[in-house]
Amino acid sequence: MKKIALRIDDIGASSKKYEVYSNYPFCNFLFIKYIYPFKAWGPYNELTEDEWKKIFDILVKYNAKLTVGITSSWVTEKNELIPFYEKFPNQSEILKNAQKNGLIDIANHGNLHCVLGKHLPLPFSSNRKYHREFWDYLEYDVHDKNLKNSQNILNNWLGYKPTLLIPPGNVYSIKTVKAALKYSIEYINSYNTIPYQRIKIINNNNVFAFHDKDIKAINGFSWLNKNIKKLAQSNDLVFVKDLQHE
Ligand SMILES: [Zn+2]
Repeated sequence: MKKIALRIDDIGASSKKYEVYSNYPFCNFLFIKYIYPFKAWGPYNELTEDEWKKIFDILVKYNAKLTVGITSSWVTEKNELIPFYEKFPNQSEILKNAQKNGLIDIANHGNLHCVLGKHLPLPFSSNRKYHREFWDYLEYDVHDKNLKNSQNILNNWLGYKPTLLIPPGNVYSIKTVKAALKYSIEYINSYNTIPYQRIKIINNNNVFAFHDKDIKAINGFSWLNKNIKKLAQSNDLVFVKDLQHE
C-alpha cells in the first residue's frame, strides 16, 4: 500500500492570534479583516484537551498516525516568549502521552512562527509575510538562535530533541539547514525542496498537510473524519519521517 503521512501544523503558534489579513482587495482596513468573509486567517483559539481527544479517537478508528508540528514559543504583544508546555500545560501533557503511545510524532514547527517584533496586526495592511520565521534575509544568527531555543524547549518538555523540522509557511534557506544540523534535525518536510547534503528533504507529494485552523475555525471534526476515512481506504497512514525512503 502507498504510504501517506497526515500532518497538522501551527500547534502552539501565536500566529493564530496575530496573523490577521484579508484576501479581498481593500479589506485590510482596520477591523474589516477580523470579520468573515473578509478575514483570511486569525484570530482563532488553540485546540483544547477535549478536541485533541476527538482527534485521537479518529486516528485510532482508522489506524492512522499523525505528525504534529509544534511551534515551541508563544510570542506575546511585548515580545516575551512563553514555552509551549507553560502556555498550554493540559494540551502538552495529552500530546506527550500520545507521543509515548505511538499515535503521534512531534515535529519542530519553528520557535516563533514569525519575525519577532513584527508580528502584531497592522492597521492598514496584511502582516502575513511576518508570520514566517526563517527568511533568508535574516542573519544566520537568528536562524541558529531560533532553532537552538526551540529544540531546547522541546527537549525540556519531551526529554529528547525531535529530528523533523517543518519550516513555517515552507520558508527556509541554507542558513536554516546549516543551523538545523547543529541541533539534531535530520529531516525537513516542505514542498520547497532545497538540495543540501547531510539533510534529508521530504517533499509534500505524499503528505496530507492541514492546520489546527482547519478543524477549529473552518471545517470541523466531520471534515477531518471524512478525509482520514477516505485516505485510509487505500493507503498506509504513517508519520512524515516514515516517508524518508519513498
Ligand atoms: Zn505554520
